[in-house]
Amino acid sequence: MNLDELTLKACGLTSRDLIDCGGDGLLAPQAAQALVSLRARAKRAGFRLAVASSFRSYSRQLAIFNAKARGQRLVTDERDRPIERTRVSEEQYLHAILRFSALPGTSRHHWGTDLDVWDSAAVANDYALQLSVAEYGHSGPFYDFAMWLQEKALQDDAEGFYLPYLEDSGGVAPEPWHLSYRPGTIGLRERQTADVLDALWATDLAQPLDSVIEEPLELIHIVRPHIDSLLSRYVVT
Ligand SMILES: [Zn+2]
Repeated sequence: MNLDELTLKACGLTSRDLIDCGGDGLLAPQAAQALVSLRARAKRAGFRLAVASSFRSYSRQLAIFNAKARGQRLVTDERDRPIERTRVSEEQYLHAILRFSALPGTSRHHWGTDLDVWDSAAVANDYALQLSVAEYGHSGPFYDFAMWLQEKALQDDAEGFYLPYLEDSGGVAPEPWHLSYRPGTIGLRERQTADVLDALWATDLAQPLDSVIEEPLELIHIVRPHIDSLLSRYVVT
């Protein structure tokens, strides 16, 4: 299977079109510009908009997913309690991972349009950011910032950004910190097809890539037969 440029982009296999924004990471040029404007407006409203995470490659997402699948990286339940790999079925374990981590090739962070943001003015300099729902909730330090952001995004007045994971639809857990630059995402979801993903996960591509994919996807034997339902449940369009 040979992948075209847009598919490579959609699945995090190239960062060729992205620009290095220093502490903000790699971003699509238009998203970077929109971020400058949004940050200036946040500042006027009393917030210091900081970026915790932006572009993430396929390889990076694969490393995260596989480490969780092997029990080498913490997997938690809804109430933040660790789940032991051996105490649940493989299928239950897969669903627990997918609540908080995307299947490699399907993350919105592959695009250079999506960012996780917080308000660094609301906490001390040595604050250890968790990106938890509690931090953005009523009694959390980022509540005012989250409300400001939601108000702007819901009125389509956030420089093109919106919040794709605001509500819990039973798939991905709510992520009030996840911003997406909508104009830059057009046409990308459609390229993350089951066929393309399957070839990537099985490292079954003849084509040379920018970054080498060292290993196949863990749990591929469970993912494969359920690919369509997993994509419709965990991949937000
Ligand atoms: Zn995110």
